[in-house]
Amino acid sequence: MTRTVYVNGEYLPEDQAKVSIFDRGFLFADGVYEVTSVLGGKLIDFDGHAVRLERSLKELQMTAPLTKDELLDIHRELVTRNDVTDGMIYLQITRGADADRDFVFPSDDVPSTVVLFTQSKPGLAESPTAQKGIKVISIEDQRWGRRDIKTVQLLYPSMGKMMAKAAGCDDAWMVEDGHVTEGTSNNAYFIKGNTIVTRPLSNDILHGITRAAVLRFAEEAQMKIDERLFTIEEAQGADEAFITSASTFVMPVVEIDGKPVGEGNVGPMATRLREIYLDESRKAAI
Ligand code: PMP
Repeated sequence: MTRTVYVNGEYLPEDQAKVSIFDRGFLFADGVYEVTSVLGGKLIDFDGHAVRLERSLKELQMTAPLTKDELLDIHRELVTRNDVTDGMIYLQITRGADADRDFVFPSDDVPSTVVLFTQSKPGLAESPTAQKGIKVISIEDQRWGRRDIKTVQLLYPSMGKMMAKAAGCDDAWMVEDGHVTEGTSNNAYFIKGNTIVTRPLSNDILHGITRAAVLRFAEEAQMKIDERLFTIEEAQGADEAFITSASTFVMPVVEIDGKPVGEGNVGPMATRLREIYLDESRKAAI
């Protein structure tokens, strides 16, 4: 089945969708994005993603080209047209295509470019990876200083994934001034006793939508949350570790830089958190 994608007001077969070579997303990585997961044909945490998108646009002085309701309609339309049961919807908004390449932002009458497409992943929530956990390496965090804005500048995270792959691992945790910031495309946590430790929100990390939900559910499940800086060594010495993101939900981490976390197996707390997150998210899906 040919995928139907959305580009600037039109639903088109993916091979007919076009964006200008002068698009600032292409030339300057001048754009923002969101990834919303779909479970059972419904959107998970759509509101959170829409609110963060608005914030990303505002921080880059971009005007939101569509309202939240319009975006919701497009998301739903794409789910229907592509018959997505489980998977993700990728959305990207760039500052549009000016007449030529220019570092200076174009005037406000240059329309932004809006692209959305689906990625079908049947059985996304039943991922076998969640049963065995993932292995991570640590790398230096060499990204820019506004990681709270979800921009499409993903070269360093992409290089981080390649470094992990080359080391026979699944992902990389990035470290700045001796402390873990986050994973290449996820937030990072460890569990010691009944306490979940994760870096506090700031410009240093993306304010994960899954992070917010998981911490809320964890508190409701009587777990303690300690938002503070932490080191790789602390995480290696923890009982359990995990990551969160819209596409992996809660994913256990069983090894960091070749050292097993706890017993080196998927632990009960991360498993429980994953179950709670999936149950609650499915209930609230729209
Ligand atoms: N940190 C980074 C750097 C990310 O790219 C992502 C996912 N895009 C996350 C954290 C997790 O955010 P969310 O839970 O909203 O998917």
